Amino acid sequence: MICGPMFSGKTEELIRRLVRAQIAKQDTAIFKPNLDNRYSEEFIVSHNKRRIRSVLVSTPQDILDKVNCAEVIGIDEAQFFDASLIEVCRELALQNRRIILAGLEKDYLGKPFGPMPKLMIESEYVTKVLAICMECGNPANFSFRLSKESNLVVVGESDKYEARCRKCFFDGIKEEVNK
Ligand code: ADP
Ligand code: MG
Ligand code: ZN
Repeated sequence: MICGPMFSGKTEELIRRLVRAQIAKQDTAIFKPNLDNRYSEEFIVSHNKRRIRSVLVSTPQDILDKVNCAEVIGIDEAQFFDASLIEVCRELALQNRRIILAGLEKDYLGKPFGPMPKLMIESEYVTKVLAICMECGNPANFSFRLSKESNLVVVGESDKYEARCRKCFFDGIKEEVNK
């Protein structure tokens, strides 16, 4: 697993590992959740514009249906899947496949995001990556939402979120409460 806040290089690291598997001539399959059900095939794209072809799926069950004989399975944005992703990963791992998950471990309030905690416990290897705080330049472990929406899932990039360290994240939350 690869986890951390937004802009921390999770997708970049996922792509790096998948490309290495492809160089080793291993059969790969790459999935990401389809949040708005528009396309069937897509790319996983990192903020520094690296990309790799991926398949959009609506549920973890779709991963089982579409995985064929892939030996290495990449899943990006794992936080957006429901808890059944844990069971699906267990089943695939028992079939001796390597699963590499990347996802946001914390939501915009700093709380654990969806199935991430259980996936982290189940994983053999967990890599935690940090971003750079946009306020002070220190290592950033939190994703601060700049927009005022309060749904759990608000899809956006640097227009809506910024990486922040612990201090700048909680200073920002306090400022909002006092507004
Ligand atoms: P993630 O999947 O974790 O959101 P990506 O792998 O898509 O991250 O993007 C990582 C890249 O984002 C970095 O290599 C860097 O070029 C860029 N980047 C933009 N903002 C930041 C930031 N605040 N901290 C670190 N990297 C950033
Ligand atoms: Mg990403
Ligand atoms: Zn900071």
